[in-house]
Amino acid sequence: MAGAGVFSEILDGDAYKYYSNGEWKKSSSGKTVAIVNPTTRKTQYKVQACTQEEVNNVMELAKSAQKTWAKTPLWKRAELLHKAAAILKEHKAPIAECLIKEIAKPAKDSVTEVVRSGDLISYTAEEGVRILGEGKFLVSDSFPGNERTKYCLTSKIPLGVVLAIPPFNYPVNLAVSKIGPALIAGNSLVLKPPTQGAVSCLHMVHCFHLAGFPKGLISCVTGKGSEIGDFLTMHPGVNCISFTGGDTGISISKKAGMIPLQMELGGKDACIVLEDADLDLVAANIIKGGFSYSGQRCTAIKVVLVMESVADALVEKVKARVAKLRIGPPEDDCDITPVVTESSANFIEGLVMDAKDKGATFCQQYKREGNLIWPLLLDNVRPDMRIAWEEPFGPILPVIRINSVEEGIHHCNASNFGLQGCVFTKDINKAMLISDAMETGTVQINSAPARGPDHFPFQGLKDSGIGSQGITNSIDMMTKVKTTVINLPSPSYSMG
Ligand code: NAP
Repeated sequence: MAGAGVFSEILDGDAYKYYSNGEWKKSSSGKTVAIVNPTTRKTQYKVQACTQEEVNNVMELAKSAQKTWAKTPLWKRAELLHKAAAILKEHKAPIAECLIKEIAKPAKDSVTEVVRSGDLISYTAEEGVRILGEGKFLVSDSFPGNERTKYCLTSKIPLGVVLAIPPFNYPVNLAVSKIGPALIAGNSLVLKPPTQGAVSCLHMVHCFHLAGFPKGLISCVTGKGSEIGDFLTMHPGVNCISFTGGDTGISISKKAGMIPLQMELGGKDACIVLEDADLDLVAANIIKGGFSYSGQRCTAIKVVLVMESVADALVEKVKARVAKLRIGPPEDDCDITPVVTESSANFIEGLVMDAKDKGATFCQQYKREGNLIWPLLLDNVRPDMRIAWEEPFGPILPVIRINSVEEGIHHCNASNFGLQGCVFTKDINKAMLISDAMETGTVQINSAPARGPDHFPFQGLKDSGIGSQGITNSIDMMTKVKTTVINLPSPSYSMG
């Protein structure tokens, strides 16, 4: 159970503590932040509202702990990560329980998120041992005008203190996708979890605590992003920010100083459907891609661009599958569960009403109870409707009918986002041409967009992000190359 057994020390009365210097603490602010259960709309948990002084303190601790950690052998860092991964998986049930209560993630998917996170940590440890254990050796005579008088040795060094800020929709998985790479590379880590998802993150952090990481190396400060976010992201003690979320990331990138940034932001993933596509496959992927976790995924299909000649048939197939979706609470493992907050539900409703006013065809009746919104397919959407461009982050999917592939590519590329996209066709040559033409970080051929498997590179163009994630890329991003050059008194050629 959450907050019980090995997790009892992270709870104080009805409020969860924050993590600093290897200990669970109450904030001196005396204030807490309420986490509202999206299903019941009642306060489920409370977390500490940390102060600026407490943030200063964890930054100081992180700075000094990192120096010792950087001197810890790579195999030992990996060993501790493997241990944390095993403990996390062992405690998947209470952590999944938090995900269900905090973010209304369906029960099975909540368990999957925790198990996948354990696997991600283990893979990161293995990958880190390999890629951080190697460097380059360069010789000077390959550049014109040089003799072989210089030997250059490169290695990857840690950056220092990494600030990790994940979003609500995968709070555990997107936290460990930052924590694992940061730690294996010899950095220390300060985590600011999303408010919805904070308690799941605190349980996950406790698994790292139980694994026995050194004091101060990992900290977790809680509080509303709008209140402590700026103080954290502009803190002089931070050497790297890895952020996943919405437009907040754009403002963070404007305020952060001269430090490496990894930004994984929003998306408006297009699904381009050609005339020769297998429409049953497309319909199945539209359901999976557009409606899993009620559309609250960065890589959800967020607009369908279908050739007019097959549009009627596709819409009918999708409608039939929408009718089979189970709608209700996450505890019952329903397909469509309440969206994360009331303000999200209001925002989604605004997009629906705009589409209604402008004449979109409603394939189902619009229905909402509290934060629970019934899945809705909107046909005949036109570019003057907000839903054609904005990210609903809810179970609402627009269909735009196109008369040429170029029209579909044009709509995709006119978006300010560029996360992923997908194309359905049996013609691989056409698929490749379309993939090359789409301005997105990834294009999936004959499948819905998805982040993962977690070792695949994952990146967004334009407003969808800076840099690239995926285990190897994240490790690289959280290191800097250092070179040492050996200067010889005279040219030296092997076997010369
Ligand atoms: P969000 O509102 O941008 O919040 C993300 C994180 O930023 C949360 O931890 C939030 O904390 C924190 N935050 C808020 N204000 C801040 C500030 N001023 N400074 C620093 N941190 C601040 O996003 P969300 O609603 O959680 O997640 C949905 C968005 O994430 C969607 O746009 C989705 O597409 C995107 N997303 C992208 C990816 C990707 O990999 N590309 C993956 C998943 C989600 P609080 O919760 O306390 O406000």
